[in-house]
Amino acid sequence: MIYTVAAILYSLRTMQKIHRQWTIKDSANTYGIKEWGAGYFDLSEAGEVVARVTGDGAPVEVSLMEIIDGLDARGLSMPVLLRIENLLDQQLTRLNESFRASIAGTGYAGRYQGVFPIKVNQQAQVIDEMIRFGERYDHGLEAGSKAELLIALAKIRSAQSLIVCNGYKDPEFIDLGLQTIRMGYNVFFVIETPTELPTILERSRTLGIKPLIGIRLKLGSRAGGHWQESGGDNSIFGLTTGQLVDVVDTLRAENMLDSVRLLHYHLGSQIPNIRDIRTAVRETARFYADLVAEGAPMGYLDIGGGLAVDYDGSQTNFVHSKNYNLDEYTWDVVEVLKTVFDEKEIPHPTIITESGRATVAYSSILLFNILDVTQSRPGPIPDDPPDDGPEAIRNLYEVRRTMSLRNLQECYNDAVYYREEIREDFQYGHVTLRQRALADNLFLDIVTGISRLLKKVKRVPRELEDLAESLYDIYYGNFSVFQSLPDVWAIDQIFPVMPIHRLSEEPRRQAILADITCDSDGKIDTFADLHDVRKTIPLHELQDDREYYLGIFLVGAYQETLGDLHNLLGDTHVVSVRINADGSFDFVREIEGDSIADVLSYVEYQPKDLVELFRQKAETAVRAGTITPQQRRTVMNAYEESMRGYTYFER
Ligand SMILES: *Cc1c(COP(=O)(O)O)cnc(C)c1O
Repeated sequence: MIYTVAAILYSLRTMQKIHRQWTIKDSANTYGIKEWGAGYFDLSEAGEVVARVTGDGAPVEVSLMEIIDGLDARGLSMPVLLRIENLLDQQLTRLNESFRASIAGTGYAGRYQGVFPIKVNQQAQVIDEMIRFGERYDHGLEAGSKAELLIALAKIRSAQSLIVCNGYKDPEFIDLGLQTIRMGYNVFFVIETPTELPTILERSRTLGIKPLIGIRLKLGSRAGGHWQESGGDNSIFGLTTGQLVDVVDTLRAENMLDSVRLLHYHLGSQIPNIRDIRTAVRETARFYADLVAEGAPMGYLDIGGGLAVDYDGSQTNFVHSKNYNLDEYTWDVVEVLKTVFDEKEIPHPTIITESGRATVAYSSILLFNILDVTQSRPGPIPDDPPDDGPEAIRNLYEVRRTMSLRNLQECYNDAVYYREEIREDFQYGHVTLRQRALADNLFLDIVTGISRLLKKVKRVPRELEDLAESLYDIYYGNFSVFQSLPDVWAIDQIFPVMPIHRLSEEPRRQAILADITCDSDGKIDTFADLHDVRKTIPLHELQDDREYYLGIFLVGAYQETLGDLHNLLGDTHVVSVRINADGSFDFVREIEGDSIADVLSYVEYQPKDLVELFRQKAETAVRAGTITPQQRRTVMNAYEESMRGYTYFER
């Protein structure tokens, strides 16, 4: 009796396990969207990724699939870089409002005025949005080169906004800045090296315009994270304490100390640990206080960039994350400054940050379709071993037959051994192509079986721990890592990746992503995880009649201009969307991606000449009688059509 009850309970439980439906909650956990999505991205009941924005009213959501349908209807094929301008607006607003709240909360007497560093995303659309949304906060721009200065000088609208010039400055750069100061704008020259000072002094004297001088510090403090070399004593930019004293002496001797208005440092981008941020702010505040004591008027303290993005959603001090939220960041900065300055009875300066990454990362998403999959799935295996095959094949059959929960490790070792034997014999010509193929199929079948059984054992042998992760499919995505995600290739950046639909279905395959460059580095095989990184990502099986779309999120910072033309895959289409308060959306701008003719001309080919060369070949073939004139027309049409077409895979 007891036995029967136990048996019934047991089978009920297994049935529950089998029938437990996969829900969107499972998908949310699998992909961590609630953690890295910052409230901007979530899942709908229909199992699709939605972008959520808050305007003046209640939050509204738009499904990314709906946007893709709209793109499709307009004939824009994948891949597409989607910009949601509301998200840029909201991040900029959050940043400014958070500083306002911290300033009010701590009783800080100065104000906050941010600048956007143009290098983080120089695209005209983005800068235009930044200026438009930033105007109500007098949010300004930071320029690091002459080209960026020309953008800043032309685009800035409010005369209250600041333009901060970092980077190397030649006399032309300085003249332009000075003349814009005369027009009533705030253009700060930040001295990065002592050698810049004489030129600034000479040009301002010649033009009779008083400069606004900033000084960049090399701090003793350093921050952890990928860019830790950017800050600290080893950074390439900024003045050492000794140089700072020299510069102050020179300026005093020249009667120009009253031009020194700003102190700046930049610790590096993506600073994961709030402690490093606090330490640097405190150190800088001391410098600032002493510059005031030296007699410089000051008024502005610029703490650079570094405000991080939580790419993996773990809220830790891991390089792809951060252990603080925006309010903690602004509160800590303001509070440390207030404490130091109150102690020294120094008027509170305007606080400037040069946040780039955190401002623009969220607003761009790379959308693409999957073209093909290579599954790690064994091919057909006959029931019985061939009579005449090599011994090792019969042994592999035997391993497969005797595999059980108790001998997994042994089976694995044997399978590896026999497969090696087959491969070696193949080198010497003792094994045929078909025999080797059968051995490979057997091996894969055994390993798949082992990894399935491993789920049932309590203690997984060390050597078999990574086995499941080594059995992955390759999903081929219609994009180029080099063009659209250069940081994935260059610095192993992790971006959140996930399907944007079918999220009420269980993703049953483990996969890595390959792009369509034929480069072995053109892949993504590190994915975010709350506790660690993982080598594969769960994805759905492809369906014959339906595209499968993935999105790579938080790609608005640094990726677009750093991307390159590897394999001559060009710029993707870029589409900007504005989400309205009623949940509808408008395509506000679209920029068609590069055509093949475009990318060919970037590398100095003349598309016209190529067409002509190919036409001559076709004509020669007509004359030789190998093709007809009609066939010439067909092939020429195809050539010219391709020349005008997209550089990516077109269905
Ligand atoms: C790159 C850079 C920034 C931007 O840093 P984020 O971490 O993206 O905010 C700011 N200031 C300077 C001087 C920079 O070089």
